[in-house]
Amino acid sequence: MSTEKILKAGKIASQVKIYARTIVKKGIPLLEIAEKIEAKIFELGGKPAFPVNLSINEVAAHYTPGHDDKTAANGLLKVDFGINVDGWVADNAFSVDLDENEENKKLVKASENALSEAVEFIKSKTADYRIKRTGISITTNKIGSIISKTIEASGFSPIINLSGHSMEQYSLHAGITIPNIDDGKTIKLEEGLYAIEPFATPGSGKVRDGKPSGIYELTSEKSPRSSLAREILEFIKKEYNTLPFCSRWIFKKFEARGLFALKELEANGNLHHFSQLVEVSDSKVSQAEQTIFIDKEGIVIVTTE
Ligand code: MN
Ligand code: MN
Repeated sequence: MSTEKILKAGKIASQVKIYARTIVKKGIPLLEIAEKIEAKIFELGGKPAFPVNLSINEVAAHYTPGHDDKTAANGLLKVDFGINVDGWVADNAFSVDLDENEENKKLVKASENALSEAVEFIKSKTADYRIKRTGISITTNKIGSIISKTIEASGFSPIINLSGHSMEQYSLHAGITIPNIDDGKTIKLEEGLYAIEPFATPGSGKVRDGKPSGIYELTSEKSPRSSLAREILEFIKKEYNTLPFCSRWIFKKFEARGLFALKELEANGNLHHFSQLVEVSDSKVSQAEQTIFIDKEGIVIVTTE
C-alpha cells in the first residue's frame, strides 16, 4: 500500500467532487460533463481510474457517454468517478436531483445519510484502535446493517446486489465486499483500501444487466489476429492496465478504427464489456460513495468530500 499515493488520489477526488457539483446542471450534455470532469482530474495531477459514470434515474451504474452521445443531464443523476495515482484509486460518487422532484431529493439524502452513518461508525472505532491496539473490530456486515437501516428509515430500500469493495493497485474490486445489507458475513476489515457506496431506491432493491455500456476492462493479453487490434491492445495495457476504460477514450485516440479493434478484442476474449446496471422494477436509484484507508496508524477517510 502506498499511503502517499492513496492520499494524493483522495485529495484530487475531493477537489473533483466540489468541481463536479458546480458543472452538473439540467440540460448540459452528459458528454460535456464527463469530459470536463476527466479533464479536471488530469489538471489536478491524477488520471481517471475509470470513465466517469453518469447514470440517470433507474440506471444505477455503468453509464458513460459514448463519443457521439446526445443525452442531456436530467432526472436523478449519479456522478461516479475515480482517481488513479499510479494504480492507487480513490472512488467517489454523489447524486443530484435535476428535476426539482421531492422523491429524488429524499433519495439523494437517503444514500448520503447511509454513507455518513457508516463512515461515522468507522471513525468511532479509530480512537479505540489507536489507543488499545486491539485491531479493528469492524465487520463488513455491521457496515451493511447500518446502511440498510438508515435507508429503510427513509422509507426506501438499499440495492442488495451492488456493494462497496476493497481495492488494490490497479484493481478496483479486489475481493472483499462491503454490502449494503447485513449479509451475515462477519469479515473483519483489515489494513487496506475500501470504497463504501450505498444505493437507495423506492423499488425492489436489485439491479439487472441492461444494455452494453461501452466500458471495458482488460482480462486477457492473448494476441489478436489483426495488427490494428494488437496496437490497440498494447495501448490499453500501457494506458489503463487492468482498470476500466471506455470506447469514447479509444475513439478519441484512434477514431473509428479504434472501435473496430475493440470489437475484435472483445470477440477474441481480451476484454470484459460491462453492462449498464438497471433497477429491476425500473425505479429511480441514488448513490453516494467515499473511500477509506486503514493502516497501522488508524483509519483515514481518503475522500474528505
Ligand atoms: Mn464509484
Ligand atoms: Mn466503487
